[in-house]
Amino acid sequence: MSDNRESELLASVPDGLFIGGEWRTAESGKTLDVMDPSTGAVIRTIADASVADGKAAMDAAAAAFPAWAATPARERGEILRRAFDLLQARKEDVALLMTLEMGKPLAEARGEVVYGGEFLRWFSEEAPRIQGRYGPNPEGTGRMIVSQHPVGPCFLITPWNFPLAMATRKIAPALAAGCTVVIKPAELTPLTTLLFVRLLEEAGLPAGVVNVITTSTSGAVSEPIIRDPRLRKLSFTGSTPVGRKLLEQASAGVLRTSMELGGNAPFVVFDDADLDKAVDGAMAAKFRNIGQACTAANRFIVHRSLADEFARRVTDRVASFRIGRGTEDGVTIGPLIDQRAIDKASALVEDALERGATLNTGGSAIPGDGTFYEPTVLSDVRAGSAILREEIFGPVLAIVPFDDEEEAVRLANDTEYGLVSYVYTESLARGQRMIEKLETGMMGLNVGVVSNAAAPFGGWKQSGLGREGGAEGIHEYLQTKYTLTPNP
Ligand code: NAD
Repeated sequence: MSDNRESELLASVPDGLFIGGEWRTAESGKTLDVMDPSTGAVIRTIADASVADGKAAMDAAAAAFPAWAATPARERGEILRRAFDLLQARKEDVALLMTLEMGKPLAEARGEVVYGGEFLRWFSEEAPRIQGRYGPNPEGTGRMIVSQHPVGPCFLITPWNFPLAMATRKIAPALAAGCTVVIKPAELTPLTTLLFVRLLEEAGLPAGVVNVITTSTSGAVSEPIIRDPRLRKLSFTGSTPVGRKLLEQASAGVLRTSMELGGNAPFVVFDDADLDKAVDGAMAAKFRNIGQACTAANRFIVHRSLADEFARRVTDRVASFRIGRGTEDGVTIGPLIDQRAIDKASALVEDALERGATLNTGGSAIPGDGTFYEPTVLSDVRAGSAILREEIFGPVLAIVPFDDEEEAVRLANDTEYGLVSYVYTESLARGQRMIEKLETGMMGLNVGVVSNAAAPFGGWKQSGLGREGGAEGIHEYLQTKYTLTPNP
């Protein structure tokens, strides 16, 4: 990867706020630095919005709403489809940009362009399928009309771990439904959203339909937007503690909310599992995105008869990983996002070891530039260890043995989270029992990655509210009206 290509790409990324169809500096003139986590170097300096900029973005989204809501659904869909095509044409640039600001290996960043792009295509197709109903009421005294309407201006807040997909997964259904938006990407990875919104502009999106604010003071800038009486919906992806706080703020205006929050996914391997498949699935479910995914397997609950063999095989696989800057050929593990992430992984591993776990490999931060942590395998992790309760968000694979199916289910459900679970078994009946017993909104049955634009992504329990993607996704941005009319 040439340094020239990187600097040209970075220089081409807009450095302003996008408000009402214009790129502007922050009203205060302040800027924020974006860093490459694999080197610690500043790669771009962009506008740092304050409360006044947030209000301007809200003004623009409110002003653009009536015309956008009245734009024919086919036209809205065609803009999304053009954005999909433009994204394909710029696939390499968008992937490289994600690797530079977030650290994931380039091959994974390319995969995210495919996944993230699919939301544009899917919702370009869903827009014209927004439908209503008409028919007699049961008493035969009138006709009932049920119609769907865009909810209004929306505020979208996204995390740093999937800089493109988390933005398209919200923007595409919102626009398809006829809503306008203010989007606030994470301050650690705002560049991908800025480049993507430039593509939306090129696709012919009218001014004010999408507005972007980048800020280092998320809490201060977001709260007035959430409390603005013109806002109709908040869609948030991020951690459960921040989600809880935002739900409180949203309660004042009784806002519609979608919350895609944290996870603590169990990965259950039964004694009748195909171990080759389970090890392949474990690698994807644990180490994709350097373990920094809400869907990352957090607890490997493995039947005692297989636990040692499973630990040996995953440890062998980890030995073949190549750690480095995501732009380098063959790298499979990039850096963690920042020092806080290193500190968290280190503390969880230390706690597990103090409580009696065995360290099979890894277990330390890697000194030098960038925030790298060794891929780690821990086996025989003891009950009560913090790593079984908290989201690891790092490349640490923790194995807990179990003896029977009932215990596996109890361990898997022993968390306040309920985003996704993974189950490996060759028994159909057992797989079906797990569908009924595991308290998660999604499940991978003999599969280690479940995300798909056509599927309803979302969690049970404290992993969130609502669904993104699938036929369900657009309904998060639509509201229902029932009208009674007399018989003709
Ligand atoms: P985070 O909650 O710290 O931040 C998420 C976003 O919220 C960022 O844009 C951040 O700037 C903003 N934010 C932080 N404090 C805020 C406040 N007080 N007011 C308004 N906005 C605020 O989470 P993160 O560290 O960026 O992302 C990791 C978390 O996201 C993990 O818990 C992960 O599981 C979760 N996540 C969930 C999904 C899902 O679909 N369920 C997907 C990806 C990530």
